[in-house]
Amino acid sequence: MKVAKFGGSSLADANQFKKVGDIVKADKNRKFIVVSAPGKRHDLDYKMTDLLINLAEAYINDDKYKSYYITIMDRFSKIIEELGVPTTILTEIEELIQSIMKDDLSNETTIDSFKAVGEDSSARILSAYLQTLGIQATYKNPKDAGIILKNDPFGAQLEEDSYEKIYQLKNEEGILVIPGFFGYTKEGHLTTFSRGGSDITGAIIAAGVKADLYENFTDVDAVYSVNPSIISNSKEIEVLTYQEMRELSYAGFSVFHDEALYPAFKEKIPVCIKNTNNPSADGTMIVANRKPDTYNDNCVVGIAVDAGFKSIYVSKFLMNREIGFGRKLFEILEDEDVSFEHAPSGIDDISVIVRDEQLPVDKEQIVIDRIYNELHADTVSISRNLALVMVVGEGMKESIGMAQTATNALGDAKVNLEMINQGSSEVSMMFGIKSNGIHRAIKFLYRAFFE
Ligand code: ASP
Repeated sequence: MKVAKFGGSSLADANQFKKVGDIVKADKNRKFIVVSAPGKRHDLDYKMTDLLINLAEAYINDDKYKSYYITIMDRFSKIIEELGVPTTILTEIEELIQSIMKDDLSNETTIDSFKAVGEDSSARILSAYLQTLGIQATYKNPKDAGIILKNDPFGAQLEEDSYEKIYQLKNEEGILVIPGFFGYTKEGHLTTFSRGGSDITGAIIAAGVKADLYENFTDVDAVYSVNPSIISNSKEIEVLTYQEMRELSYAGFSVFHDEALYPAFKEKIPVCIKNTNNPSADGTMIVANRKPDTYNDNCVVGIAVDAGFKSIYVSKFLMNREIGFGRKLFEILEDEDVSFEHAPSGIDDISVIVRDEQLPVDKEQIVIDRIYNELHADTVSISRNLALVMVVGEGMKESIGMAQTATNALGDAKVNLEMINQGSSEVSMMFGIKSNGIHRAIKFLYRAFFE
């Protein structure tokens, strides 16, 4: 039994809905279908979720929201008309939006409720369309599916006891079409995952019903070994492990939401990334373990890069002997509400790498002053415009010369290394470089590991 999730590009217009209908029809094992909101139809288009966020914000701020409302309803109306499904669905969507406006909800719940309209409507439309194809399909609201969430500033998180109820979905007749991206708190308030979170819903359903496979349909044939916008024709990845995917998505591989890996990993459900526009392509499998014979010659599966970091450099003579120095440093960051990513250290110095948004420019001086005053550091400075390059592959474990190949390539690219970090799992090597060196670094690394 399979769970199939379709992303926004797979549901961008009526034609895409039809492709989804064909895919569902083609395999009887596809019992649970999870959907995103309609995505962009072309580069200059808007995602439905963005339009809904605009509508929500205008509504809350008492601004003119009618034009957003009309654009949203026009788009749904066109999809419904072209698919030939009952127009009562459009009335249901209208009523859904009206009810959010009538209810006396907190601003947060109002915004989340508007955001959820995209996925909710996709699920209603798709189940009605599948019925016109003679498939027994039912729309299932996440509340009835058992998706109970707790609020979190970074996006809702699942209440672990949800899984028992989700497991019961197996006993239901026919195909269930479930909207992704949202659920309900124990108190009954609607709440959403972070952006792109329909992947998380799909993974939760797959883990909950203990599916044989979680298929994640998107608009690419596979996960590529490097960003194809930097290296065109970059190698497609056939299979990678959860950990490799986690490391790659950390540094910018956005094809699968990184939070969606955990539920799949927990139950060891294999994930297959597939293309709605080319469903016969094999896609990329994400699995718990892969056999060494699937490692390519150089052991590296992918190279990712993410910009938008800065580093806080702190040096103090005899830092290595000062008990509690690290704790006090991290306490200052905790006090100032700064979350850190990595902290490579030397004998007398340490660099703390943070994402730019964690340390806005107006907070920099406060942090620098506190480190000087409270820790009596010799030097404290901030280096900006950092990017992290990750070279990832399970095959690198105990493989000799990997760092040498990477650093030679970066040297040939004339890219200065500000930081090098290799976790003891040896699944990835991380290099901190200036953002303006990204393209050169990736080109030379790709050449060294894949060509
Ligand atoms: N529609 C939501 C978004 O655009 C969630 C998703 O597509 O997965 O973020």
